Formats: sequence, C-alpha cells, structure tokens
Amino acid sequence: MVTRVDLENTYEKAKAAVAAATSLQQLDQVRVEYLGKRGKITSVLKTLGRLTPEERKEIGQVANKVRQNLEGDIKEKQEELSSEEVIKRLAAESVDITLPGREHVYGRRHLISQVIKEITDIFLGLGYKVAEGPEVELDYYNFKALNTPADHPARSLQDTFYIRKAGAHPADNDIVLRTHTSPVQIRVMKSQKPPVYIIAPGRAFRRDVPDPTHSPMFHQVEGLAVDKGITFGDLKGTLEEFSRQMFGRESQVRVVARESFEAGIAEGGQQIRLRPHFFPFTEPSAEVDVRCFACGGVGCRICGSGWLEILGAGMVDPNVLIEVGYNPEEVSGFAFGMGVERIAMLLYGVPDIRMFFENDLRFVKQF
Ligand SMILES: [Zn+2]
Repeated sequence: MVTRVDLENTYEKAKAAVAAATSLQQLDQVRVEYLGKRGKITSVLKTLGRLTPEERKEIGQVANKVRQNLEGDIKEKQEELSSEEVIKRLAAESVDITLPGREHVYGRRHLISQVIKEITDIFLGLGYKVAEGPEVELDYYNFKALNTPADHPARSLQDTFYIRKAGAHPADNDIVLRTHTSPVQIRVMKSQKPPVYIIAPGRAFRRDVPDPTHSPMFHQVEGLAVDKGITFGDLKGTLEEFSRQMFGRESQVRVVARESFEAGIAEGGQQIRLRPHFFPFTEPSAEVDVRCFACGGVGCRICGSGWLEILGAGMVDPNVLIEVGYNPEEVSGFAFGMGVERIAMLLYGVPDIRMFFENDLRFVKQF
C-alpha cells in the first residue's frame, strides 16, 4: 500500500526531474512518466477504491495535491523552456556581420573554347559566318565529296572510326566520326549559292593512340571562301591578317629577351610563310607557317627555325566545286584548316595534349 511518505518522495523525484529538463521534449517525458495514463501518480489515484474510507481520504488528498503541484511545476518549466528556445532560435538566425562573406565561385571557358572563340572572333570581323555540321558523318561528305577516293590512306580502318551497321559487310561502311570539319564545307555549299564565307569550328576524330601530341578527339577550325574572282593572293592576305591578329602579339611563352623579340618582328615583317603541300580537296595546296610568337622569328627551343607550322590551306579543287553544283568557270575559292589544340599548346605553353581532356581543375583554372 502506498503511504503519504511514498507519495511525497515520488513528488520530490518528479520535481527534480522537471527542474533538470533542458528541453520541452525532455519535460514531456517527465510528464508522461508521472502523470500519463500509466504514470506513477496516476496509478496511485487509480488504486484509491481499494482503500478504507479513512485511508482513501488521507492518501487521496495527498495524491491530488501532489498531482496539482506537479502540474503547476511542469507548466512553469514549460514557459521557461519555450522562451529559452525562442531566444536560442533567434540567436541562431541572426546575422553575424563580422564574419567574412561567402565567396562566389565563377566558372570560366575551357582553354580550348577560349582559343576557338579568339579564332572565330577574328574571322567574324573579316565578314565570315560560323557554320556547323554533324560529328557523326556520312562517308560521302567526309571523304568522297572532298575528292578523297576510296583507296586514299585516310580512309583506312587504321585511321578512321567507322560506325558499322549491324550485319553490314565491312566494305559497306558509310558512316564515320568525321575526321576533319571539312564536310561542313560541302554541306554549306550544297545548301546555298555562292558567295560563301564561312568558318567551321568543331570536334574531329581519328584513330590515334593518345600521346603528348595525339588525341583521338581534337578540335579544328576550317574556313572556306567561294566567290567570283577569288585568287591565291586573297588566301594569302586573309591568312596574313588572321596571323597578325592571332599571333602577332607578345605571347605568354616568350623565350627570348624583349629586344630580340621586337627586333625579329621588325626585321622579318613577314608574318606567314607558305610551303607547297598536297591535300586531296585543294589544288594548289600549301602548309602555312607562322612567325614564331615566342621568339619573334629569331629561332628558339619552341620553333627551332623561327617559324611554326599552324595551318593547311589551298585553292578549292575544281572537282569539289563541281561535286556541289558550282561552276568552276564562274567561281573559285580557297579553304584552310587549323588544329585548335596545337595552337593552344603553342600559345600557352601546354606540354601535353591530354591535359586538355583530363578535366583536372588545377590545370583548367590556370587559363
Ligand atoms: Zn621561336
């Protein structure tokens, strides 16, 4: 049987638990423990019926008093804790203006995109338009229409990624990952009449094992001009102007003294040099060297001779003009192409082409 002393002890314990509660949740646990349906005080009140009238009167009074007191204690503590929690929350939400601000991280163009934009901007300034075409290309646009016959080495399985149709004979491969951006020239000429002044920047693919200077995926910018009376002189003048804007400045990779650099530029004057070459889709063709922007043309470890090989170019082969429905008696044109990675490597001193595609932020963030 429960005595008055038991009840008073229970109340003391409950009171201490209420005082010790540090959160509303803890306080509620105390309430349930003592005043809940199966709480320690509630169960005493439930057994009152089994007592004698005298006992019932005494214990009942004490138990009710204990319940009321405890309820009062809990309510008081509840108010105290609520206001404390409000204060805590307000403190957490307030702004500490002495803290340093959060830094915004800005993205940037990849070096390859930057160089493509630089090249593109120069030609846009010369009146060219940007043209694009598919990266997965038909053999016809990539090779045949560009005067590249079936037995040309560029078409071998060792050089080109072919996309084979299921069950097709290997000889019937007619879909390739484009090996250059030149098929864009064919697509543009087939879709419009001359005059044409376009540049085609984009990705190209070749079956190369990656090494410091080779990557199976790389970027090119090709240019094409077709109009009445276009001559080799126009080609030379265009490339001369492009090279002056693109490379005729002091590069980040200057390896000789400023005086020698300026002397080289002043003495040479000439910005580009053309050497006879062969491409299937241009005739005559030339490889174009640009005066070394690291040494001004006096010769250094990057160029050796003072010249850097940057471009391939030539007059559009009449066979190509005929293929797209142009009349080579009426119009003529020139085309040129350059590798973006090579230019970026030379301009910014990047030693390995694979660094462009490894996505190492320590590298990418430098430019
Ligand atoms: Zn040099």
